[in-house]
Amino acid sequence: MSPVPPMKPEPVASDPLLAVPDPARDVRRRIFLWVMPVAVLACLSALLVQAPHFDPLDCWALPTLNVVLLGVYLALRRPTAPVDELIGVAYAAVATYFLLALNHQFEVFVPNHNALSESTFWFAVLYAAAYAAWAPRKAFTFAGITWGLALLIGVLNLFALHADGALTVRVLGIMAQFYLSGAVLIGIQYALAFARKRDREVHLMAYMDFLTGLPNRRYAEGHLAQHTRPGHAPLSVVMLDLDHFKRINDTYGHHVGDHVLRELAQVLSRHTGRARVLARWGGEEFLLILPDTVLADAHALAERMRQSVEAHVFDEVGVATISAGVAQAEADEAAHAVLRRADAALYRAKGQGRNRVMADTEPRGGTRVSLPVTGD
Ligand code: GH3
Ligand code: MG
Ligand code: MG
Repeated sequence: MSPVPPMKPEPVASDPLLAVPDPARDVRRRIFLWVMPVAVLACLSALLVQAPHFDPLDCWALPTLNVVLLGVYLALRRPTAPVDELIGVAYAAVATYFLLALNHQFEVFVPNHNALSESTFWFAVLYAAAYAAWAPRKAFTFAGITWGLALLIGVLNLFALHADGALTVRVLGIMAQFYLSGAVLIGIQYALAFARKRDREVHLMAYMDFLTGLPNRRYAEGHLAQHTRPGHAPLSVVMLDLDHFKRINDTYGHHVGDHVLRELAQVLSRHTGRARVLARWGGEEFLLILPDTVLADAHALAERMRQSVEAHVFDEVGVATISAGVAQAEADEAAHAVLRRADAALYRAKGQGRNRVMADTEPRGGTRVSLPVTGD
């Protein structure tokens, strides 16, 4: 007997709603697709306003930054692009330029104007951008490193200014506000981002079955209600139930029964794509929701699932089977009505000996229809 591995609440479904931990990958990609051209334009206009007397730093740093941002923009246009890495490159490039410019300011601007220039305002945008790009901890690290380097540049230049006799109380005050406001901004953003992350986790837990990692019944009901609005497209549902599960519990114990449910969820999940939702309906019952699917296709899919389960060797238990009932929702049929018909078909599958798929052939109104389904 192989030992039963400990339970891990690891999702086996790739459903859009359950992908809550990182729902924003594509949103981030699109945000940065907008931001990149704006940043490129900002760099170009910053250069143009200097013509014909270009700043010695900007005359090479801004075109370099432009090339990097354009490269990131072009790479991000591919939907499969590694979004996090590309945004990381853009962030590093912009942060490097900002830090170089800050150092440059201390050398040129501060002694002449007794102040920091308005361009330092953009550090706040950089700190906020880190939280738009990454998860709270990573954003805090990147924004914190940027802030720390800016502080190091400031402190080193303080000594240089002091040595040159150019350090004034006014400059000290401006610097204190620059660093303090940056630190407060990073801290507030971190607290907010963390709260948002918690919200997403709570949301995920509310819609996920902890044992199997599948969507739970609450999620399935919401999903089904969305797809059974009046005039909806053909939609089929499959109600699946493990055969004689009580015996498995009684023979091997509940912990093995739990493990069988997890294995079953994984076997069934091999047949579900992005558009299909497989949920744990309750106990050893699972519901498969198939939008844009007619009864015959739903039946064929359920039959493939049944065969996969039959062929699977479950840890400790060996062979286990499922029965399934399939029904197609009519255009104005409510979710609970089609579920009841699928349940009735499942009941018939159980009655006829289990390990089989039965299609509901009696839609509302009672007219018997002949369906191109075989195998039962
Ligand atoms: P049938 O073939 O008619 O479906 O028979 P069955 O034994 O599978 O169905 P029955 O309804 O008699 O028993 C289902 C059992 O499933 C009873 C219940 O204790 C068990 N069960 C429900 N949820 C869980 C669970 O999360 N873990 C475990 N281990 N057992 C569960
Ligand atoms: Mg059962
Ligand atoms: Mg049952």
